[in-house]
Amino acid sequence: MTQTVPRLPQLGEWSSAGELRALQEAQLPETLSWAARSPFYRSRLAAGHELSELPLTTKQDLRDNYPYGMLAVERERLATYHESSGTAGMPTPSYYTAEDWVDLAERYARKWVGISSNDTFLVRTPYALMITGHLAHAAARLHGATVVPGDNRSLAMPYSRVIRVLHDLGVTLTWSMPTETLLWAAAARAAGLDPSIDFPALRSLFVGGEPLSDARRKRISEIWGVPVVEEYGSTETGSLAGECQHGRMHLWADRAIFEVYHPETGEITADGTGQLVVTPLFREAMPLLRYNLEDNVEVSLDDCPCGWRLPSVRVLGRSAFGYPVTGVKITQNRLEDLVFELPAEHGVLFWRGRAEADVLRVQIEALPGQEAAACAALGASIKATFGVPSQVTAGTLVPREVLTAVQDVVKPRSLFGPDEDWDKALLYY
Ligand code: AMP
Ligand code: MG
Ligand code: ZN
Repeated sequence: MTQTVPRLPQLGEWSSAGELRALQEAQLPETLSWAARSPFYRSRLAAGHELSELPLTTKQDLRDNYPYGMLAVERERLATYHESSGTAGMPTPSYYTAEDWVDLAERYARKWVGISSNDTFLVRTPYALMITGHLAHAAARLHGATVVPGDNRSLAMPYSRVIRVLHDLGVTLTWSMPTETLLWAAAARAAGLDPSIDFPALRSLFVGGEPLSDARRKRISEIWGVPVVEEYGSTETGSLAGECQHGRMHLWADRAIFEVYHPETGEITADGTGQLVVTPLFREAMPLLRYNLEDNVEVSLDDCPCGWRLPSVRVLGRSAFGYPVTGVKITQNRLEDLVFELPAEHGVLFWRGRAEADVLRVQIEALPGQEAAACAALGASIKATFGVPSQVTAGTLVPREVLTAVQDVVKPRSLFGPDEDWDKALLYY
């Protein structure tokens, strides 16, 4: 049986919150009928409930129904199966049809800098089980770009090779976690290249997957001399939000209904601060109704000059979470800002901190000759911001070998000569 892809809404097709709502409401009955085919939702929907009456679907529900308890199409129609990076132990499955993949790829491709056939797109996130690598790959292909599948957890692609392809192929767009782009900067310097000068083809860095403070984003953008475009999503849902050129992240509310759950009161609202709840409107293989991502976010319905007329989201993540030092809460986000607000000439790309009961210990990696100045400056800003004692030291956090090693992945082999090392016979990597 061939399925017809419903025509998916495109940016610019609505001009008010009311029209956006009408788009959602037009699609919702079909979304609910798809969900009713899944064993998990069949009973929940049997009584003919409306979306607003349904309980939240949790990550635990996904795990409890591993692997195919939420399947709503014939197995033959599945195109891909994924598991999220999540916590060790029980896998969190998600699966998609080819039609679901059109929606997924289109959502990711909504980048304000555009993606076209003139682009060479380096994908530097995992391909194994997770969706992230495949998502960017599909979006870039959809727009005719040349994809360079780089992964970031493959032995075939050490940092030296990333720098070679970025440079030699004239890569124009990349997709990675923000931290990766700093590792590339260090690897480029280790190869004698200047990130802001020697990669003239580069147009933009697409980043996501981990929290990014304002100062770190700004520093990454300065180092590479291109805009950083942020993305927010998950393996269970694909892309949920992306940045407009005014620097706001907008929820793709034409493709999903978003709500905010307040765990303290059990209330669910359209905006505000709480956990993000999503009902994707265009997925058949594994429908999700009111899925709680358990990400702390702040959703705003304010207008934005971009004219997309979509709600904005700030991913707070665990940003409110911190460790006390002399009774003062230290959060990663604020400390990250202090590190990346240091003068650029110190060249601090990497840091780590440990909050102890009476001292905040921080290690940074600074350019040779800049260590003392960088440590003093950071100690002073920690004092000024948090008012806690700190001990800031400089050292190596990312060994040079990691940035420069050229490693070749060999293939398995069983027969060796008398002088050859046969230890690599089976554990050949
Ligand atoms: P995964 O399901 O393993 O692909 O990871 C998805 C999770 O990564 C999300 O639920 C968020 O907690 C986090 N994440 C993704 N993008 C961002 C972002 N732009 N900012 C902060 N956290 C993010
Ligand atoms: Mg996840
Ligand atoms: Zn905007």
